[in-house]
Amino acid sequence: MPTFVYMTRCDGCGECVDICPSDIMHIDTTYRRAYNLEPHFCWECYSCVKACPQNAIDVRGYAEFAPLGHSVRVLREEEKRTISWKIKFRDGNEKNFVSPIRTTEWGSIKSPSDYEAPSPDALKAQELAHEPETLHIDALPTLPPQKK
Ligand code: SF4
Ligand code: SF4
Repeated sequence: MPTFVYMTRCDGCGECVDICPSDIMHIDTTYRRAYNLEPHFCWECYSCVKACPQNAIDVRGYAEFAPLGHSVRVLREEEKRTISWKIKFRDGNEKNFVSPIRTTEWGSIKSPSDYEAPSPDALKAQELAHEPETLHIDALPTLPPQKK
């Protein structure tokens, strides 16, 4: 289910724009509020939902398969480190889910630019940049040799 923005809640901070991996969250130049520019390209990762400080982003199903009358409300509570999902069905039934948002302190994750640039040789290596040290292990696990 792709996301949409309640424009009356959005304050145009741009957090969703910065975090969206599909680059579909944009700020309307007239109203200075965010909107999902292309819901069909939404990865449904909900990074924007979790990042929005105003709880301005919710999700809804495509009209083709999601019946009208339902709703999915999302509440991010940073101080509790939880995100809550309230699913309301057309018959009035509700289901509520609470999940932890993350396990690290807010703002404690370094940005890629805070790391030293990998050497050109790293492009030929099997590891991703800064593996294995950023995984806090000595070496990546390897598959045992196959028995013949
Ligand atoms: Fe972008 Fe993910 Fe939000 Fe979709 S759910 S708009 S892909 S951040
Ligand atoms: Fe608006 Fe929330 Fe996006 Fe900020 S993160 S621009 S408040 S929808």
